[in-house]
Amino acid sequence: MPNDEVTLVKICGTCRFHIETFSVKKDNMMMFSKETIWCPQCQSDQPEVRDVAGRQESIDQEVNSYPKAVPAEEITPAKEPASS
Ligand SMILES: [Zn+2]
Repeated sequence: MPNDEVTLVKICGTCRFHIETFSVKKDNMMMFSKETIWCPQCQSDQPEVRDVAGRQESIDQEVNSYPKAVPAEEITPAKEPASS
């Protein structure tokens, strides 16, 4: 199930600038980070704050609205079944 992933937002701890979003497995989810991150708005390294980008329900809806990403392995270009 792909639903064990959450989308987190990295936010500048000083100005709350929304720096980036990233997906992470719930098991690996770390809401607290002692890292610093470059904030383009502060033009300096700032404490990194993480927040959940959305509730799981809304994430599911978003995922469902995206076109399905088909792994390349599943595409079989040369084979077309002639009989049906
Ligand atoms: Zn900032």
